[in-house]
Amino acid sequence: MGCREETLQAAVKMIHERIGKVVSLSAFYDTEPDGFQSEFRFLNAACGVETTFSPLSILDKTEAIEKELGRISKSSNRIYGDRTIDIDILLIEDLLIESERLTVPHPLMHERDFVLKPLAEIARDVVHPRLQKSVGELARALRIT
Ligand code: AMP
Repeated sequence: MGCREETLQAAVKMIHERIGKVVSLSAFYDTEPDGFQSEFRFLNAACGVETTFSPLSILDKTEAIEKELGRISKSSNRIYGDRTIDIDILLIEDLLIESERLTVPHPLMHERDFVLKPLAEIARDVVHPRLQKSVGELARALRIT
């Protein structure tokens, strides 16, 4: 919701200032809401970041950015709704993390064309450490590239 392009640009700037150098950024993709009905459409992008912060510190920082950019409602039990911004951590090198607050790779990333399309633009050859397939292969499996 809101001015999607401005919000997305602001989020990338805040990620760069607070988490680490943004070394790659995909185009912004206009997409349908997935999993719920809404009059609003989404704008999705993926970026690559060089950081020295731990995974949980990264999550703390992305959550703070979401809050500051005025995210209105979080998903609960996978029931989704309109929101100003949603920042997901997709991959962190080859790490496999399953903790209460954080699952990496993001558990739904390989099923979502709105994730794989921008991600394939910046990380086509990166291998998903659990599925052992590259992002490009995962995107092709969904017939999006
Ligand atoms: P959502 O509303 O879909 O952004 O979900 C946010 C919740 O998912 C937060 O409470 C996070 O602790 C949790 N979470 C688990 N894994 C991840 C991840 N890889 N990236 C972002 N949030 C995550």
